[in-house]
Amino acid sequence: SNYVVKVENLKVYFTKGGMFTKKYVVKALDGVTLSIKEREIMGVVGESGSGKTTLGRVTIGLQKPTSGNVYIKADNKEINVNKAKLKDISNYVQMIYQDPYSSIDPIMRVYDVLATPLKYKKMSDIDKKIEEAMRLVDLPLELLENRVYQLSGGQRQRLSIARAIVVNPKYIVADEPTTMLDASLKGEILKIIKDARESKGFSFMYITHELPIAKIISDRIIVLYLGKIVELGNSNEIIKNPLHPYTQGLIEVYPRIDPSLRDKIKEIKIKVDIVRPDKGCVFYPRCPFAMPKCKEQEPELKEVSQNHYVACWLY
Ligand code: SF4
Repeated sequence: SNYVVKVENLKVYFTKGGMFTKKYVVKALDGVTLSIKEREIMGVVGESGSGKTTLGRVTIGLQKPTSGNVYIKADNKEINVNKAKLKDISNYVQMIYQDPYSSIDPIMRVYDVLATPLKYKKMSDIDKKIEEAMRLVDLPLELLENRVYQLSGGQRQRLSIARAIVVNPKYIVADEPTTMLDASLKGEILKIIKDARESKGFSFMYITHELPIAKIISDRIIVLYLGKIVELGNSNEIIKNPLHPYTQGLIEVYPRIDPSLRDKIKEIKIKVDIVRPDKGCVFYPRCPFAMPKCKEQEPELKEVSQNHYVACWLY
């Protein structure tokens, strides 16, 4: 198929506690399978603790999984990201971070932020590539001689996007790049990402805790809960016809999206502490629709209508 990123049964487990408290295993990701197509923006939605950032990091090789595989297709090769060296895949995969202040050295010249990865890769036409990246993120070329600390927050975030796209990668993980920005700047950043996809054909994983943002930016959306995909489908379908009780709860948190949905959805109390059950459905401690079966058996992710997948015994 025409995938760029393929993730197979990814698990990331680690142990916490030990010294003074009981040891326990945290399952940051627990059997995630997905693929992202060429030119596709895949939204990954979840609360903190859902594993969304871990998923993004593992897909670009910044973190090794406990088990499972990630493949990137680029230059007619299929690369196993977990086996590759970071320096060998940095042409193909890039990341845009949440915080534009800590992710770029403030003392650097803007030009050097963009030139460094190109020089490292011994690429040609460095100035041309830098100018193109600046244009794509709507930053004036005059800024190239400035130091990063002289830029505003919005300009820094554009620069971090420029840094990701300047090497012309196949796949970019954007980890909540608008979270730290004012509402007025969020839209600009989303537009820049969409335009970059249009003109350069990148594939994106767009990580966010805000479903409305995922709807604006993504072609498809994955809803992640405690390290598992609970729902997956086309963005419009997920917003108009959310099937999993957790997704329905997320939409209720943002009632302005579609007021007609509000009445249909029973109240889901969002608990602050998330308890992961040992067996059964991961969501049952919070689910208003839980049945006895849900405590015992885990529902599989299955296709309930075309391209719409849900893991829930209601379907
Ligand atoms: Fe709720 Fe059961 Fe569906 Fe889990 S499987 S979301 S507990 S109804």
